[in-house]
Amino acid sequence: MGARLLDGETLAVKIKEGLKKEIAQLGAPHLVAVQVGENPASRVYIKQQKKSCEEMGLTYELKEFPADISLEDLSYAIEELNKDKRITGIILQMPLPAHLDARAIQIEIAPHKDVEGLHPVNMGMLVYGNPRLAPPTALGAIELLKSSGVNLKGKEVIVVGHSEIVGKPLALLLLASQLESATPTVCHIATRDLKFHTKRADILFVAVGKAGLIKADMIKEGAIVIDIGINRVPMLDEKGKPVLNEKGKPKKKTVGDVEFEAAKEICSYISPVPGGVGPLTVTMLIKNTLECAKLQKAG
Ligand code: NAP
Repeated sequence: MGARLLDGETLAVKIKEGLKKEIAQLGAPHLVAVQVGENPASRVYIKQQKKSCEEMGLTYELKEFPADISLEDLSYAIEELNKDKRITGIILQMPLPAHLDARAIQIEIAPHKDVEGLHPVNMGMLVYGNPRLAPPTALGAIELLKSSGVNLKGKEVIVVGHSEIVGKPLALLLLASQLESATPTVCHIATRDLKFHTKRADILFVAVGKAGLIKADMIKEGAIVIDIGINRVPMLDEKGKPVLNEKGKPKKKTVGDVEFEAAKEICSYISPVPGGVGPLTVTMLIKNTLECAKLQKAG
């Protein structure tokens, strides 16, 4: 059996079409990214975010702060962004320098500008089963699942990974009213027998960041598998040797947490990496910015 692919690129284009119309009606929302110090990885994200926002009719602004800024000064700067009526949403780029407590800063962002859905007020709404602004990756993973057309009623859903940005909100979204009839179980590093759980999953979400964690024999026949993990691994030739680039360094490729080739022979649907949840994360970030604009308009 060959699984059908859950194509995040195509779904993202479709969702963006709808969002574009709403954005045009609302006027250009303004997203501000807060970057503290230098980080090459977050530079890549910033570039992608800026491009995606501008394509969608949002304006994007980068506010940079020195790596040695104090918690008090950064909190004050966030407070100023909160007060600025021109700003619709605020993203805090991670990681922050070690002396800054990311959670303490995240909490400073006004709940109605919290496009990442990480403020306790927004997390609380999620716990209430009434999500308002939820973390984009978790929202994207749910959208991809819904695109399979599955009826969730009575389904066993396993979520591997319990981070605040993916696993936990994902489990809570699965318990929220429109999806309430699934039965989510959350696995983590201390889970005693991961295979026992994954093997009974009708729907399996994996968000860990370990290539090859989920092998084909850990997946139930006919399951739906949504792979959220992103890992850079060396490319190997047919003899299992690293492929080198022109500088003699190992070439790398991006893979998820699931052994894709073997898994796709077992499951009914599978999301690829890249091209699965990734394109939906930025789409949901834009959707959240739009939600922020609506919340602010409603007062
Ligand atoms: P994270 O904060 O490091 O969380 C990883 C989670 O996996 C933790 O809850 C950890 O549990 C759990 N875990 C670690 N080893 C495990 C094991 N052997 N068995 C079961 N659970 C295990 O990472 P994250 O931010 O959630 O991201 C997870 C992955 O998703 C990463 O690869 C990241 O790059 C990717 N990601 C993708 C997107 C996207 O747009 N596609 C967006 C965000 C993240 P403990 O806390 O108990 O150790």
